[in-house]
Amino acid sequence: MRGEAVFDWLADTARRRERAGLRRTARARGPVGSGVNLSGNDYLGLARHPEVCAAAAEACRVWGAGSTGSRLVTGTTALHEELEERLARFCGTEAALVFSSGYLANVGALTALCRPGSLVVMDGHAHASLIDGGRLSGAAVAETAHGELAAVEDVLARRRQRRAVVVTESVFSVDGDAADLAGLLGVARRHGAALLVDEAHALGVVGERGRGALAGAGLAGETDVVMTTTLSKALGAQGGAVLGSRRVVEHVLNSARSFLFDTGLAPGCAGGALAALRLLEREPGRAVRVREVAARLREGLAAAGLTVTAGGAAVVSVRAESARAAVAWQENCRAAGVEVSCFRPPSVPDRFSRLRLTARADLTDEEVARAVSVIAAARPDD
Ligand code: PMP
Repeated sequence: MRGEAVFDWLADTARRRERAGLRRTARARGPVGSGVNLSGNDYLGLARHPEVCAAAAEACRVWGAGSTGSRLVTGTTALHEELEERLARFCGTEAALVFSSGYLANVGALTALCRPGSLVVMDGHAHASLIDGGRLSGAAVAETAHGELAAVEDVLARRRQRRAVVVTESVFSVDGDAADLAGLLGVARRHGAALLVDEAHALGVVGERGRGALAGAGLAGETDVVMTTTLSKALGAQGGAVLGSRRVVEHVLNSARSFLFDTGLAPGCAGGALAALRLLEREPGRAVRVREVAARLREGLAAAGLTVTAGGAAVVSVRAESARAAVAWQENCRAAGVEVSCFRPPSVPDRFSRLRLTARADLTDEEVARAVSVIAAARPDD
């Protein structure tokens, strides 16, 4: 076979993808300040905050552009240590461990805490990084219908495995709805299971002063609860973290391959995240404002007759008729100066394509009102 023929099968796959309206491209975004951007995850408007950028630049100057090695060799700086201490204090846990992404934090937590012979009970709307962590751990993974406590209880009650971990997001990335954390922990405890909560979309947004949903529910310090999060959304930088009791964090540090064999988080990101966390501590009003902006978006879109999911965080999801309709809707919005995201298979856990909007604390009421009218008018007819 000629060398180039080896990948001829890709042509068929590409054709099918195109026909189904599922082809994706990574395109450069517009310059900052052009139009209204409801598509990034910079919930608090900190990614370009002068203090955050200056701290990132200073970290780069002092420690270098890269961390130079894995965390256990040369990749830990004083910034990583300070970030871990501060994150743990802010979120109300004993300890934290910083990874170079939220994806790797989830994979690390699950592979460290589960193994073949364990059971992972995974909410049907869980993020790909949680699903991949469960799969990689070798544990049996049972997916339960989204938000169904009774289904979680049923799976736990029938299990043969001794060890089990219930996995959820506190604010779901798909629709921005909230998990019943107290309910889930109650179920997990009745059946001797741990609870892992991904707070990627909750940190900096929900809970008192943006400390997250676990802290908000008074559950962050519980020894059978593990929290994961990202530094790439509300904190405007990049990176991830696993938080929990000292014992759990120590175990993850010693056994998570996505921690041990990955170059440590770049110092610029550690410095930027640290500055963002300080800012958030100083200006808790940012968390209040992003929730207010999201509420205005939800109310405005619902009043325009669109199907909007309820939620108390920054993610706002609008139902589209089909994947094709969602793409056309997104394009129409873009042409009118409003950037929105489009969720379609395989990124969505069900058959519903959606427009996905993310509120930002630094949007004005006028910008929100403009976005609402553009989105409502841009809906395609089919
Ligand atoms: N968990 C959830 C719920 C997410 O939405 C994301 C980001 N899309 C991640 C984890 C991964 O975080 P990161 O982007 O830092 O890898």
